Amino acid sequence: MGSTLIKGGTVVNADAAIRADVLVRDGLVVALGLGDDWSADEVVDATGKLVLPGGIDVHTHLEYPIDGFTTRTADDFHSGTIAAAHGGTTTVIDFVKKEPDKSLFDSYMRRRDVAAGKAVVDFGLHAIVPPRDQQENVLDDLRRLAGEGASSWKFFMAYPGTQMVDDGQLLEGLELAVEYGVLPMVHAENGHMVARETRLLIESGRTAENYHATAHGHESEAEAVHRAIVLADSVGSPVYVVHVSSAAAAAEIGQARSRGSLVWGETCPQYLAVAYEDYAELGEKAAAYICSPPIRERGNQEGLWQALTTGALSTVATDHAGFCLEQPNDLPPQKLRSPGYFPKVPNGVPGVEDRLMVVWETGVKTGRIDMCRFVDLMATRPAKLFGLFPHKGLVAVGADADLLVWDTAADHVITTAGSHMRTDYNLYDGMRVTGRPVHVFSRGHHLVNDGAFDGKPGRGSFLTRGKPHLF
Ligand SMILES: [Zn+2]
Repeated sequence: MGSTLIKGGTVVNADAAIRADVLVRDGLVVALGLGDDWSADEVVDATGKLVLPGGIDVHTHLEYPIDGFTTRTADDFHSGTIAAAHGGTTTVIDFVKKEPDKSLFDSYMRRRDVAAGKAVVDFGLHAIVPPRDQQENVLDDLRRLAGEGASSWKFFMAYPGTQMVDDGQLLEGLELAVEYGVLPMVHAENGHMVARETRLLIESGRTAENYHATAHGHESEAEAVHRAIVLADSVGSPVYVVHVSSAAAAAEIGQARSRGSLVWGETCPQYLAVAYEDYAELGEKAAAYICSPPIRERGNQEGLWQALTTGALSTVATDHAGFCLEQPNDLPPQKLRSPGYFPKVPNGVPGVEDRLMVVWETGVKTGRIDMCRFVDLMATRPAKLFGLFPHKGLVAVGADADLLVWDTAADHVITTAGSHMRTDYNLYDGMRVTGRPVHVFSRGHHLVNDGAFDGKPGRGSFLTRGKPHLF
């Protein structure tokens, strides 16, 4: 592998921005500074632009089976990671769900192999802990997985009867996570409250797509977040709350953090830049916006931004789980498999390609967050929490050369047709952005060069992750 010199840019890390050239060799950053006499096989002019660490999206669902394996998300590990790369994300961490006829451990190894054959950027995998009745000896598998680089496990407090673990199993899992130095993650919604609300809506004939948001109230999310924190505190465990959508839930995390609890919250671009009002009147097509927890009222957004600025929330990931509106021949039934009946709509929205541009536009451009905070939310904090730091998540000598040349003056309109995700719609269609990655490097390889992509399936590596850096 050759060498590259990224010249003339401003390097932005979570703690500082400095004018520096970046010399890359054999996939690593080998020098940083004003190297007037440095030379390299390839020189990239970054004058007037920023050099950022590659984005790390710790929450994706590529070719991901849902609803009892009756359907799956549209992007596979190939198309999904190509889209990620175009948007400036050079690492994704996806999930492994136990397959019906396999143990969690075997399911993990199988999915790791599938992803390894297709991914164009580096990837990791979180293990999803199945309810006890689906696998008796699951604790043994979790122990083995901790040794295989799966340093994060996810628990569902939602979906009773299929994925929800009860508080007893959650406590047991949190204790084990402490023992193995694993970061527990929770999908925090009170599954019983959502199930009851859904039943009442069905009984009263209110099954149109927009009622999905009614079924998943703010209280059910805030309650589960609160409970997860109390349970984690009681056993001395850290806990990471995925996809925080409600400002009330973010406030629970903020209060707990100020008391000293080891809790981190993630939110997603769709909760920051899209609102219930955008889809409430769309009828069946509102299915395109259905995810859990739901995209909430516009008035909720400012509370999430506040939480990102105060540190109540610590990361922005996508929960990328795209389904198509029009039914493709090669995929199982997608978004419109049960028009007019929200409980059957596959949950999830696309966004792995849009994350950095949307948060730059709505966060940095508006002055809500500065560019160092942007890097922290998008790359550094995710790398620390998920055991990738200091190899990834920063621009520094010795770190992987996962780098973006970010043009703050680029004028770009996000469109469905211009996106690389497989979905046939885009939540941000028509959004004008003025910041985007013009060059994307993954371990020194020039993956995206002014929109031109160069990367074979399988070039991405599985990441054996270490213990979380909690501070
Ligand atoms: Zn998810």
